[in-house]
Amino acid sequence: EDASEPLLVLDAISHRFGKVLALDNVSLKLQTGEILCIIGPNGSGKTTLFNIITGQLKPQKGCVRFAGKSISGLSPDRIAHLRIGRKFQTPSIFKDLSALDNLLVAHTAAKSIPKKDRPLQFLKAVRLHGMEDIPAGFLSHGQKQWLELGMLISQSPRLILLDEPTAGMTQAETLETVALIRALCEQTRCACLIVEHDMRFVKAINCRVLVLSAGEIIACGEYDDIRHSPSVKTAYLGT
Ligand code: ADP
Repeated sequence: EDASEPLLVLDAISHRFGKVLALDNVSLKLQTGEILCIIGPNGSGKTTLFNIITGQLKPQKGCVRFAGKSISGLSPDRIAHLRIGRKFQTPSIFKDLSALDNLLVAHTAAKSIPKKDRPLQFLKAVRLHGMEDIPAGFLSHGQKQWLELGMLISQSPRLILLDEPTAGMTQAETLETVALIRALCEQTRCACLIVEHDMRFVKAINCRVLVLSAGEIIACGEYDDIRHSPSVKTAYLGT
């Protein structure tokens, strides 16, 4: 593995659905442990980008490299085995199992041997300390999202893709989620790509932001830089 290469490299990715150019020559680099937010209006290509990274779609043009090797064309299973995890908007937890058992299931699915104390550490990391015996179905909406983040992280990913991790959360839960994701990425050196519409989240997490519009990267930089960009205002913020 070439340590000088970024963890994830997208090189000139284009993808078309019929007449729609969903991604147009998109390139990006993500370092180990780095967090990057992806924003853009509906239909700008965010989901297509995630699907290309996780192998649900094979890029028609360009290539995806992970940890120094090309992963373009690998099956979603093989890509998941390289420790790339993804969380969708709808929580996929087992509602009748306790919070702790949900974590144990995630561990087992990842074929790692569960050490007794570690799942508890993960529960603590996702703000669910003391709730290990509660059936997951009884947790609040925000807590379910955090449990799923814990399940994802307990599989020792090197990269996670999060789709609107704070959708439906209160402002307090949203800010708590920012702190939680930051801490998880710092502690585990896991890199993180986040699609998020909530600008309070994007501002608070204070990472690099990539702006997509009609399949093209129209801006990339810190929140304060991109929010003043005229093309971003026109395309996304609508002001
Ligand atoms: P976003 O996630 O930013 O809302 P998508 O990546 O879902 O955007 O979609 C980008 C563009 O590609 C949209 O115009 C969408 O209609 C189109 N698209 C996405 N998936 C398909 C598909 N399976 N078949 C046809 N068109 C698609």
